[in-house]
Parts: sequence; C-alpha cells; structure tokens
Amino acid sequence: MIAAVARSYVQEARRRVGPKRERIRQIVERLAVEHADAAIALRFRTPLELLVAVMLSAQTTDANVNRVTAALFEKYRRPEDYLAVPQEELERDIFATGFYRQKARSLRGTMRMLLEEYDGEVPRTLPELVRLPGVARKTANVVAAELGHPQGIVVDTHVRRLSQRLGLTRQEDPVKIERDLMRLVPRADWARFPHLLIWHGRRVCDARRPRCEECVLADLCPSSRVRPPAGLAAAERTLS
Ligand code: SF4
Repeated sequence: MIAAVARSYVQEARRRVGPKRERIRQIVERLAVEHADAAIALRFRTPLELLVAVMLSAQTTDANVNRVTAALFEKYRRPEDYLAVPQEELERDIFATGFYRQKARSLRGTMRMLLEEYDGEVPRTLPELVRLPGVARKTANVVAAELGHPQGIVVDTHVRRLSQRLGLTRQEDPVKIERDLMRLVPRADWARFPHLLIWHGRRVCDARRPRCEECVLADLCPSSRVRPPAGLAAAERTLS
C-alpha cells in the first residue's frame, strides 16, 4: 500500500514538473545565475598541467590535488621532466594524492606517448585522449571541455545524483547517463553543465540532506520535498 502511494507520488511529481525537454533550459539558466562562479576547482596554467591535475584527482579531493601540484608543477614543466626522474621519485612527489604507484605509472606512460605520438602536446579529441595510459572517458571529457573542445558531458557522483533527482535520466551507468544528457542538454552548454550540477550538489542538493526549501529548482524537480502532497506526507509519517 505504502509502495503504491510512493509510486503514485513519483508519477504525480513527474506530471507536475513536466517533460524534461521543456525543463532543461530553465534548469541550466537558473543554475547559471545561482552558481555564476561554477568552474573547475583544479589549478593549472597549461594543457599539460590540466591533464596531470585531472589524472591525479582520481579518488581524492581537488583541494588535495592543488596542494600537491603547487610544488609539482614547479619541478615538472615538460613531459620529459616526468621521465627524467626515477619512478620512485615521482611517486614521492605525488604521494599525498593517494594511489601514487598507479598514478605515477600512468603519468609516465602518458608522458611517453605524448612525446612519441603528439610532439609533446596534449591532444584535443576524446579518441586521442582515451588512448593515453590511465586516461578514462571522464578524465578525457574534463580535459577536452576545459581546453574548449567539449565532446561529451562529464558524469561524476554529483552529476549522476542530480541528473537522477531532476528526472533527466533513469540510468545508473555513467556512460548511459552521459548519453541521455548529451541528447538533452544543448551542445553549447556541455562544458558548463557538469560544473553547475557539481556546485549545486555541493552547496544545495546534498547526497543525504538535499535542501529543497532553498533550491531554485524546487518547482522543476520531481524529487523536491517542498510542500509534498498529503498522500506522501501520510506515507512518510507511516514509514518513519
Ligand atoms: S529540489 Fe531538492 S532534490 Fe531537487 S535539485 Fe533541488 S535540492 Fe535537489
């Protein structure tokens, strides 16, 4: 009975907010106003530094990467520099980012390929970027977008959670979520859209306690808990 009420509430919520194609532009526009400062938090000055910072950011925070790269980028300026030291030295220099052995291996493999196949430059296309050792689709998407050539949409934990809550996808797999978002989000917004969701996720739509009462998307979101209908309120009371 409670499940049926919850199901009908979800259906009613989807009906209330309308089709996602009619909501997406407003979602982007409102978030762009709300989080005008939304941008990548990693610090870098060159495409090479961007690539290294994104590779180091796996399984750690951007703030932690920035602490490490402040010194790292003074010592390692060109791809050759990463190959001129023993692997153990590079491991020590990136130790604080975690998974330092794997990351050092990936960095050195990537630098070797950059030198051998790309004249030491960071390539701009996804197929080229994902060939680099240790560079998966998410890393490639971040690098391509930040270099001004977005070819997909970055899906991290915040993008996944918010896309689902906003009813933009029903998928769980990041590749399928990205595919849904690429069909929905205007191409001109592919680079900034993930930043907007990431910052909204950090500031408002928390994983455990979304602050729907403060959310600028409350009337566009089928998961909003602002003024739930009596049916849901009764179901929630029974469940708690
Ligand atoms: S209304 Fe609530 S669930 Fe929906 S996006 Fe805003 S904070 Fe998240």
